[in-house]
Amino acid sequence: MKKHNFYAGPAILPQSVLQAASNAVLDFNGSGLSLLEISHRSKDFESVMAEAESLVKQLFSISDDYSVLFLTGGASTQFFMIPMNLLKDGETSYYINTGVWASGAIKEAKHYGNPVVLASSEQDQFSYIPRDFNVPNDGAYLHITSNNTIYGSQYHWWPKSSIPVVCDMSSDLFSRTVDGNQFALIYAGAQKNLGPAGVTLVVIRKDLLERSGRKLPSMLNYKTHADKGSMYNTPPVFPIYVSMLTMRWILEQGGTNAMGMRNQEKSDLLYQEIDRNSCFRGTVKPEDRSQMNVVFVPTKAEYESEFLDLCKKNNCVGLSGHRSVGGFRASLYNALELESVKVLVELMQEFERTHL
Ligand SMILES: *Cc1c(COP(=O)(O)O)cnc(C)c1O
Repeated sequence: MKKHNFYAGPAILPQSVLQAASNAVLDFNGSGLSLLEISHRSKDFESVMAEAESLVKQLFSISDDYSVLFLTGGASTQFFMIPMNLLKDGETSYYINTGVWASGAIKEAKHYGNPVVLASSEQDQFSYIPRDFNVPNDGAYLHITSNNTIYGSQYHWWPKSSIPVVCDMSSDLFSRTVDGNQFALIYAGAQKNLGPAGVTLVVIRKDLLERSGRKLPSMLNYKTHADKGSMYNTPPVFPIYVSMLTMRWILEQGGTNAMGMRNQEKSDLLYQEIDRNSCFRGTVKPEDRSQMNVVFVPTKAEYESEFLDLCKKNNCVGLSGHRSVGGFRASLYNALELESVKVLVELMQEFERTHL
């Protein structure tokens, strides 16, 4: 039975990508060997790495002014690698606090200086994206989180900044058209919208490699990985391969413009129902609502487990809110079909009919 997969991460991948990945595990490119049992320095894998890099550049419209890195350690490792590599001693970095992940980035930045939080929506349960701030022109960088996976808010505009902008795009990577040239550094754990857990994408403007001047262990220095084409040590070959397949799939579907339209249509349909249905309520300020993670709560506490049961019975999975906020969260990543959202909306309507 087909499941409608609303998990927040690791999350849904296109069926055709899973099929191609399975084939490569058994027999990679007709080589008679599994992708998992060949050298990462073999010609066949080198071409996977080269294609993955070039697809990232294409999807972000960026040139060779940027290095595309496939690293390990998750987005959480970037929380400290960014200040470690970008911040000179005594310099300031600026952060916007829009949720748990942004707070994590701020906490880790404290190892290398004193990050300044320019704006925060923490006092209002992170229910919106702050707009009321100016970015000073003296800092090393401004850090933002484009989509807040846990609270369901998303930037639909970009802050004006004369200093480099660093963006955690873990949960809305390639979900809409973004001009990568506006950012100095973009990073994302793969497991939300790109591929399996185990690889982290980092896109960094080359002039920022070695910016801090700090002596760093080789593995924690962006320059090492940029110089070696992400092959300084053994890269996570399988997650990179699957991510490459997902990027091919995005282009086959019409690229990031098509993704943006699909995701708009899916999220509009669900938010309309949340606003109409008397059993549910949205938690995020309408203009900041996420197209990726739709967070909503029941209007009566007892509805929570009842609605989750109804969903489960009807093959809709992964709809519990994050353990820190409760309620519901429907993640509508690129690979989720409109059909799945329609099924969820019908269940919400059925729930209302039986609970009026
Ligand atoms: C999931 C997530 C992270 C953490 O990613 P890991 O790869 O598990 O370290 C960081 N930022 C955002 C926005 C996320 O959604």
